[in-house]
Amino acid sequence: MKITLARALGTCFGVHDAIEAAQDESFRDNLTIIGELVHNPQTVAALRAKGVRMVRSMDDQITTKNVMITAHGAPASMKKALEARGYRVYDASCPLVLKVHNRVARLVSEGYFPVVIGQRDHVEVRGIVGDLAEYEVILEPEETARLAGRSKIGIVCQTTQQVETAQRIVAAIRERFPGVDVKFVDTICQPTKDRQAAVRDLVDEVDLMIVVGGYNSANTKKLKRVCDEKGVEAHHIESAGELEPSWFRGKLHVGITAGTSTPHEIIAEVHDRIREISRRAGGADGAQVSRHDNTSR
Ligand code: SF4
Repeated sequence: MKITLARALGTCFGVHDAIEAAQDESFRDNLTIIGELVHNPQTVAALRAKGVRMVRSMDDQITTKNVMITAHGAPASMKKALEARGYRVYDASCPLVLKVHNRVARLVSEGYFPVVIGQRDHVEVRGIVGDLAEYEVILEPEETARLAGRSKIGIVCQTTQQVETAQRIVAAIRERFPGVDVKFVDTICQPTKDRQAAVRDLVDEVDLMIVVGGYNSANTKKLKRVCDEKGVEAHHIESAGELEPSWFRGKLHVGITAGTSTPHEIIAEVHDRIREISRRAGGADGAQVSRHDNTSR
């Protein structure tokens, strides 16, 4: 059985840097993270084991001097409020999330009504819209009806949205409001686009795809959706222990992809476990392993 890793997969630089920062010795036993730093249960558990505390919101009880805003970002007003309460705030917002904040602010200053293509309840989206007087968050083309009456519409995306979803919604807005000035700023981040493009390239070559990432990770779910849309069998798992040998029966080529919150160690464990399953199933010579890129095709 051949096993191929998608050419782009796993932890992005934004998540990586935030995890590194949270583990800095200077914060030892004196750091509370507001919200989930990453959508990955293993990483969250490892941080807790190192004495890092986590709360759901800034209004929960915080007993440390240092507080951290996660890579997903937060409204500027929240940072100010925390400082006003006497906390030392470490802002681990990803620069690509801050870029969305800046682009929205510019659209508003130019007179556009701001629209975010994304999940209304996602912490990143709450951070983007948190300081706006008015806005809409849209995820389905039917929801574009809510934009009636606007003369200028400025659109950005949650960084981890699927490219096709954004294109579909922008097209729906332009079609529904042909006379309106619609400006679209594509803020889907490059690491997300790279992972989506990599899985799209690989999915046509495999007969099974393993998608690794937290069940609460939106971008991991989107990678699985790409496989579903292509009609290729895919399983979303959080860890190697969930792999079922029966999935691999009769399969000749298995692909592996992973969301932007998935640590590379977990991908390596999944990869090793699939090799073991393959060996036990009779592939005594072991699995053939490759990394998917243009030169290996
Ligand atoms: S997914 Fe993109 S925006 Fe989010 S932390 Fe990673 S690089 Fe930054």
